[in-house]
Amino acid sequence: MNEFDNFQLERGSQLSENSKFSGRSLDNILDSAQVGVWEWDINSGQTIINRRWATMLGYTPEQLEPVTFRSFAELVHEHDMPALQKALNDHIEGNTEYFVFRFRMRAANNSWRWIKARGQVSETGDDGTPVRMTGIHLDVSELMGLVEVETQVSKRLDSILQTSPAVIYAATPESPHTMRYLSPNARSVFELSVDELIARGGWMEIIHADDRDSVWAAFEQWLESTGDDTLSQRYRIVGNNGEVRWLEDLCRKVYLDGELSELVGSLIDMTESVSRERLLENVVDVVPGVIYQFRRSSDGHYSFPYSSRKMLEIYGVSPEQARVDASGVFERIHPEDLEMVTLSIEQSAEQLRRWSLDYRMQMPSGEQRWLHGDALPFRDNDGAISWFGMIMDISRQKRIEVELADAKQRLERAQRIARTGHWEADMVTGELFWSDIIYEIFGFDSATTTPSVELFSNCVHPEDLDAVRASERRAELTGVHDVEHRIVRPDGAVLWVHELARRERTADGRDVLYGTVRDITDTKELELELRQLSTTDALTQVSNRRFFMQAGSQALERARRQSRPLSVLMLDLDHFKKVNDTYGHAKGDEVLIRVAALMRSRVRQSDTLARLGGEEFCVLLESCSLESAEDLAIQLRDDIRALQFAGANGVRFQLTTSIGVTSYLPGESLDSVMSRADSCLYAAKRDGRNRVIADSSSVSS
Ligand code: GH3
Ligand code: MG
Ligand code: MG
Repeated sequence: MNEFDNFQLERGSQLSENSKFSGRSLDNILDSAQVGVWEWDINSGQTIINRRWATMLGYTPEQLEPVTFRSFAELVHEHDMPALQKALNDHIEGNTEYFVFRFRMRAANNSWRWIKARGQVSETGDDGTPVRMTGIHLDVSELMGLVEVETQVSKRLDSILQTSPAVIYAATPESPHTMRYLSPNARSVFELSVDELIARGGWMEIIHADDRDSVWAAFEQWLESTGDDTLSQRYRIVGNNGEVRWLEDLCRKVYLDGELSELVGSLIDMTESVSRERLLENVVDVVPGVIYQFRRSSDGHYSFPYSSRKMLEIYGVSPEQARVDASGVFERIHPEDLEMVTLSIEQSAEQLRRWSLDYRMQMPSGEQRWLHGDALPFRDNDGAISWFGMIMDISRQKRIEVELADAKQRLERAQRIARTGHWEADMVTGELFWSDIIYEIFGFDSATTTPSVELFSNCVHPEDLDAVRASERRAELTGVHDVEHRIVRPDGAVLWVHELARRERTADGRDVLYGTVRDITDTKELELELRQLSTTDALTQVSNRRFFMQAGSQALERARRQSRPLSVLMLDLDHFKKVNDTYGHAKGDEVLIRVAALMRSRVRQSDTLARLGGEEFCVLLESCSLESAEDLAIQLRDDIRALQFAGANGVRFQLTTSIGVTSYLPGESLDSVMSRADSCLYAAKRDGRNRVIADSSSVSS
């Protein structure tokens, strides 16, 4: 193009005259140089053209003449006309040294030719106003064809970029921050245009203040280096509205003839993925385990395409090592657990079910760790399966678990020895928990029995159910449940238990009894025996004097309250001393036992029979009148006399007895009643024995 640009018309040369004078020779020169020549009378619009001016459009000059500005303008592409007009005016007004313009003109075959016009005012009027312009036309269609393609390509590129997330830029190495080109999608991607970029003082100003130094340092270093590698940087920019965005900036150097001529690059808005990545990185750092993707390729190869940093900490294998091959990880799994682990993975793969497992790993140091893994499998398109999940070191929990199990076992053992179990009852739902030992005490199989408050109630001895219920009611008021009662086991055995419990309200508002149950059968039996011993005469098994006096006081109180009669028999064997003396002390004991048994068979269950000492007995008859008591006494006297005893030498002998009978008088004490009975007995002895004497003063009206 330079040759044409250098073509200059001397200011003030008279082309019209020249064309008239030199005629064809100059015309031929211009024609062969393919230069169209024009001379335009600005005021009339009349234009003189040479042949070439017309032929480059496929016309003959005759077809076009006379050429006026109007007829010229009609041939110009309407899109190019306004700018052409402006360039022309600019020159005529003296703003430009030359009129230079490129535009399209319609050729005879209706195609468009690119014309480059260059001209100058060649004549001015007396007042200095331009009256004539002279210039040339060059057909630059072939050159412009390339430009047009380029324009179209760049237009297409622009439209592609409009929908692309990548913003393309070009900058010179000298001033990289005032970008020469920024693809139009910059506006939609991160709300920035070249104009705004310039207005804000260049790219450096757009970059977040915190990132500026490092971005610049990396850029400078890269620019100075000779390689043609791509500079990849991630940094933040601050948008026009103050919004911060993460960009990925990939920049390349473009060399022209061995010289660095341009920098081109792409900017991708990473805000979302960066924040997602950052979030993941942060999460990964705080979770207590390895976050990972585990892959089983279709040929069964294991790898960890992704694993977080904790992989190294937990397994001693770096994420980079694990990425290609998982064998380093599997080598660490405890030999005894390895099969279980692989089996569980295969099962999870087969059923596409969650993988969840506790297993051990063996560190090279010999240390053993417990791990817990949890992952969800997904089938990939290529037949591989990927799990996404987490592996945690649960050694501590496991240790605690084992310690807990030990403690529980110790407790169980202690409870078994103490025959004490613990239980927990939800008084609303009726749910009941039993420790193992309770199943043993109650005679149930823990594998097949579900304890419940109802089951427990069914075990309570029917006679003790009231006592248990009463204690439960007390617990509602006092919070303490404390009762001893019998239970009947499924095998019929009766056991005594002591229940001690505290009623509490749990954090979630449930009303719960926490308690212990102790098998007290042995102690209870001992206690009952002791109690019996303390109230019973060891030889005859009837009550002793102490018990008689207790029972007598209570009976007297009842009689007084209920205004019922109460009678007492006092009985002493006659000449018992002789039995001992004749047949021996043992025979005397036997006599006492048989007499006691006889008496017990004759009195009611509710009557109290006691041996007061030696061969002296007493019977307390509740709701019994003096007459009835006397009748009973006579009956006893006769029955005892009828008893046959045999001595050591086979000699038979019999006994008689003397009985005093009294009845309680209102307001009287037990001692007084007894003392009157004793007096009657004494009277019976005195009167010759083998007789009954009732205290007639006892007969109340
Ligand atoms: P009586 O009552 O008719 O006046 O004459 P007795 O021979 O029964 O006189 P007493 O009541 O004084 O004698 C009671 C005797 O009973 C004295 C004692 O040797 C005897 N005796 C006391 N306790 C026992 C005992 O547990 N076993 C035997 N074999 N004899 C006893
Ligand atoms: Mg006596
Ligand atoms: Mg006697």
